[in-house]
Amino acid sequence: MYDVIVIGGGPAGLTSALYVARAGKSVLILEQNAFGGQMATAPKIENFPGVDSIDGATLANNMFEQAVAHGVEFDMGSATVSVVDDSTRHFVVTTEYAEHQAKSVIIASGVSHKHLGVDGESALEGKGVCYCAVCDGSFYKDKPVVVVGDGNSAVQYALYLATICSQVTLLTWSNKLFCDGELAQRLKVNDKIEWVQNATVQQIVGDDCVTGVAYADEIGAITYHDCDAVFVAIGQLPHNETFASVVELDERGYIVAGEDCKTTCPGIFVAGDCRTKSIRQCATAVGDGAVAGFSASMYVDKL
Ligand SMILES: Cc1cc2nc3c(=O)[nH]c(=O)nc-3n(C[C@H](O)[C@H](O)[C@H](O)COP(=O)(O)OP(=O)(O)OC[C@H]3O[C@@H](n4cnc5c(N)ncnc54)[C@H](O)[C@@H]3O)c2cc1C
Repeated sequence: MYDVIVIGGGPAGLTSALYVARAGKSVLILEQNAFGGQMATAPKIENFPGVDSIDGATLANNMFEQAVAHGVEFDMGSATVSVVDDSTRHFVVTTEYAEHQAKSVIIASGVSHKHLGVDGESALEGKGVCYCAVCDGSFYKDKPVVVVGDGNSAVQYALYLATICSQVTLLTWSNKLFCDGELAQRLKVNDKIEWVQNATVQQIVGDDCVTGVAYADEIGAITYHDCDAVFVAIGQLPHNETFASVVELDERGYIVAGEDCKTTCPGIFVAGDCRTKSIRQCATAVGDGAVAGFSASMYVDKL
């Protein structure tokens, strides 16, 4: 039986496992796709402390190798958890390939960004199609950009990008914003932001990088709009459905936990983007990883 099993090999999971291993415990990370998570797909990370600029794949590889060097074990598979509530309370973590047992579990399953699903979006991802304003906004300093979406994230992206970019165009499907009133007010009085209503994106245009976006109005007339980047903010999908039987999720599917990374199930901790929090970044993921890794080790010591 492992002391701790970590589900998810992104920055939160890799950091959790590092902390557990350094506390002298046995630890296994299970990853269903590729180690590094979303971070590994980021062309450039320029807001991670101590590293001026690095491509996400290299940072992911550095974290992976550091964890290996400290004795973390790795395996592939899509994991689910169940609680064995007998005298030796422990957890069974099952993948399509194997069944493992652990005294404690850390869930670090991350999120996916919802995609528009239009022509040009996937081909131009990382070449002007962006899903994170805090991550990528500074690459478009003094350039015109478009934000797509009508909720809190989209409006926050627009307000943030207006501090960096020359012009921000917000495209919303209807004539309504589904964000906090105070954010909507700030948007409406910001003269660097143009709000285009009833606009449905048809295509993101560009060869090697984004040069514009084509959208339809309510009668289907197409407008082409020049821009250097399109920030898509139409929601995120936490990878948590499979854990709903063991830990509480909020109404949007995030695992309910505070800064202590404790879930509603004693012995299961959570780290990174998959938990309830306001800022989802590499720096906050590794911060959670440290807390969850340390807390899981303390939990195991107390058993
Ligand atoms: C294109 C892009 C650019 C970005 N740029 C920046 C940036 O510049 N700066 C910054 O700070 N942040 C950036 N981010 C955000 C940052 O990458 C994330 O905040 C961070 O990766 C979250 O880490 P995480 O470990 O919580 O989750 P993730 O990175 O999402 O990792 C979760 C991992 O868990 C795995 N997993 C999920 N469910 C299971 C399961 N059931 N079993 C096994 N494995 C599972 C997934 O496959 C994934 O590998 C960017 C994100 C993207 C997509």
